Amino acid sequence: MTEPVITARNVSAGYGRLTALRDVSLDIKRGSITALCGPNGAGKSTFLKVCLGMIRPRGGSISVMGNRPGYPGFRKTLLRIGYVPQNTAGGSLPTTVREAVSMGRYGMAGFCRPLSGQDKELVEAAMEAAGVVDLAKRRVQELSGGQTQRVAIARSLAMEPDLLMLDEPTSNLDAEGRGDLLRIIRDRQEYRHITVIIVSHDEETIAGCADRYRFGDGRAEKIFPEAPGALRPFSSRNVANG
Ligand code: ADP
Ligand code: MG
Repeated sequence: MTEPVITARNVSAGYGRLTALRDVSLDIKRGSITALCGPNGAGKSTFLKVCLGMIRPRGGSISVMGNRPGYPGFRKTLLRIGYVPQNTAGGSLPTTVREAVSMGRYGMAGFCRPLSGQDKELVEAAMEAAGVVDLAKRRVQELSGGQTQRVAIARSLAMEPDLLMLDEPTSNLDAEGRGDLLRIIRDRQEYRHITVIIVSHDEETIAGCADRYRFGDGRAEKIFPEAPGALRPFSSRNVANG
């Protein structure tokens, strides 16, 4: 068994007097695709922010790729994480789509260094995967919500991350876009063995994830696959043997 990419134990976190996460424990396996679902306000986005070190947990412990978010040394870990926040705006800078996707390479290249030929190839491949090649010269500000979401996904893919966190990436996508996203993610997982976490309300997207947690009441409950020995109230075998 390889060590999980993320291990959370009894994590609590909040904002001011508000408690968003009460007691979250979960493991994200290396190379897995995990869905986080649950109602609005359940703390899904907060959990991702804790994983990224944007919010310090108030209690419990969290480890991401063997490091503690927010502590010295975590900056290097962050370079290996692709994050697409919820409600990604196009941004106010008058950049083109190709420039916006190229931003995904600057963390590695350093802001002042020009992109190498290989960086540029990765940018083109990411645009291809996310279906935004036709938009390459368009200004990001002019795009629709769904197009903007695809550009944000392309930028995170261009990073070539080991861990990809997508916060409601399908909220502005049509059925075709949602199917495309699942294909892109599966492709990356299969061929580059990356670990993916997707926050989603979309049934099909959730069903496409091999591991699933539901957030609610400040906690995260594993809903798939079920723990061995879990009660199956609808199984006739259980009733018959009961
Ligand atoms: P979800 O992503 O599951 O919809 P969030 O993690 O965004 O839930 O929010 C969890 C709770 O924390 C909600 O009650 C929300 O209102 C609150 N919250 C989220 N972000 C902030 C913030 N920046 N300041 C104050 N409260 C926040
Ligand atoms: Mg959210």
